[in-house]
Amino acid sequence: MTLPKQLITGAMTYHIRYDELAGDNNENGSCLINKGIISVAPGLDVNRERIVIAHEWVHALLDASGLTCGEGPILDAEKEEIVCHLLGPILLESIRKSRSMISYFQGRE
Ligand SMILES: [Zn+2]
Repeated sequence: MTLPKQLITGAMTYHIRYDELAGDNNENGSCLINKGIISVAPGLDVNRERIVIAHEWVHALLDASGLTCGEGPILDAEKEEIVCHLLGPILLESIRKSRSMISYFQGRE
């Protein structure tokens, strides 16, 4: 399966890429908000890779929502990680199981 090249979230377009450095943390991924880059460690099982990207996507969603940015963010870094850890797999599973709803949102029924 080919890694998607980009992900649009809010006003941002994130470029998705493999990066050896992404394997240096426990998450096997990173989301560089200011650069618009989501990195994932190469060589992961595809299901693990999807979970990592979903986790990083939640980081991007939280930034777009304003919950994690600016002065006095509603979610500090520790809570942000918890939210991403919990919501990433749910986001992934919801997308997997909701093909008709995704088509509906895209206006392609
Ligand atoms: Zn994270």
